[in-house]
Amino acid sequence: MKQSIKIHKRADFKITLWYSLTFFISIFILALFLNYRLSHNLIKEIDRFITDESNEFLAEIDQEKNDLKKIQKRFDQTIAGREFYKIYYRILDHKGKTVIASKNFGDIGYRKDINFLTRLKKKHLIKETFHSPYHRNPFRIHSFLFDSTINKEIYAIQIGTYLKHYNKTMSNFQNNIIIAIPLALLIACVGGWLFARRVLVPISKITKEAQHLSISNLDKRLIPSGTGDEIDELIYALNQMISRIEESYLKISQFSADVSHELKTPLAVLKGETERILSTSRKRDEYQDHLYNLVRKIDELIELTNNLLFLAKVDSGQWRKPDDEIAIDNELLKVIDLFQGLANDKGIKLSYLPLPHLLVKGEKFRIQQLFTHLIDNSIKYSLPGGEIEISLKKENGWSVFTIKDTGIGISKEDLPKIFDRFFRVERSRSRQTGGTGLGLSLCKKIVEIHGGKIIVESELGKGSTFTVFLPLVNPS
Ligand code: ADP
Repeated sequence: MKQSIKIHKRADFKITLWYSLTFFISIFILALFLNYRLSHNLIKEIDRFITDESNEFLAEIDQEKNDLKKIQKRFDQTIAGREFYKIYYRILDHKGKTVIASKNFGDIGYRKDINFLTRLKKKHLIKETFHSPYHRNPFRIHSFLFDSTINKEIYAIQIGTYLKHYNKTMSNFQNNIIIAIPLALLIACVGGWLFARRVLVPISKITKEAQHLSISNLDKRLIPSGTGDEIDELIYALNQMISRIEESYLKISQFSADVSHELKTPLAVLKGETERILSTSRKRDEYQDHLYNLVRKIDELIELTNNLLFLAKVDSGQWRKPDDEIAIDNELLKVIDLFQGLANDKGIKLSYLPLPHLLVKGEKFRIQQLFTHLIDNSIKYSLPGGEIEISLKKENGWSVFTIKDTGIGISKEDLPKIFDRFFRVERSRSRQTGGTGLGLSLCKKIVEIHGGKIIVESELGKGSTFTVFLPLVNPS
């Protein structure tokens, strides 16, 4: 059932939030930077202007030499034309006392600290922004020393201007920023949300389609948008995953059907035979014979279930390979000895080349099972007069076991399927020979869990060769 996701957990909400937050922080930092740069540049311009005025004053002092009255008159005339940036000035003697000042200087309320002259002596030029208690806006004031050898009464000059226009420009800029930031943030939020929705729409589509997938429609696939982006890649990966699940599911279904079938038929036969035995009274010997046959069939069933259990354990990863060292030449020899009688009875020549002493690691019982099954198959699928040749050798760190027969062989079409579970070339023929179609898949699994591989070559009517590679304990 579809569950609606809480807003704060939704990806589009989170993307929008992070995007907007990042945007806000960057725009805020940018605004602070611009504010600082604008203020800095404006003050620099004003400083240049004050420096120009100072130079003009110095030139006038130079002209009027010792006459302070005349100097003041000339100064006042000069600043009278300064309307936009009004000029404030005063001249101090070496005790710090004002000797002349513009009329408006007193309005500033400028208080110099006691160390002012000492500081000025050290620096020669002090540029400061002074906040007057009587005015809304600050003043920019330059104080500098005067060469008193020329005019003994003049020690220092202070000249400055009112920063009204500077403040106006700054507050205009700040007001604009205050309006622009929320507006930009709003656009970023809406844009971010639309963008997040656009990116996430295909994901919602995938979610919807995935919710409708079930065992009954595993053949369905998600449709990529064709843009070749990460979402399309995700769709391809999901489709591959669905294909693998479908394949495994079909295999499991087939396997369960085969298992039920394999168990059902012999159980039905067992029941039928038991009922037949019970239907008439028999002699003790006859009962014994019949019961002996039944026990053999039950043993076959037990072996089949044990093999199925082993395969299931390996498939689910529960089977752990024992670490025993196995002399495979000894095990092979035991199995060959076991089958010599059967081969002779069928008129088949079972021979082997000298077996080298080779060690592999694993489970002895499973290795025996492997040899037993391959030799048994070769005898089963060979005709009287046939030949089976077995060899064991060491090759590049591997033990290589080969069993070659001149039997009925396997067709090209069937060859790729013979290691599939319950596959039999001809079901009726295999039933006659007593096979279940599980043997070779079991052999393949045994070889794989021992770190090896099994291959087959065969030609219909000519014979088959099975080769098993197993890693040696001591490859050198
Ligand atoms: P089964 O238990 O029926 O023998 P297997 O898994 O051992 O099943 O073998 C699968 C099929 O491969 C068999 O049905 C058989 O026809 C074919 N096969 C296996 N070994 C040989 C062989 N040596 N020669 C010819 N056919 C073989």
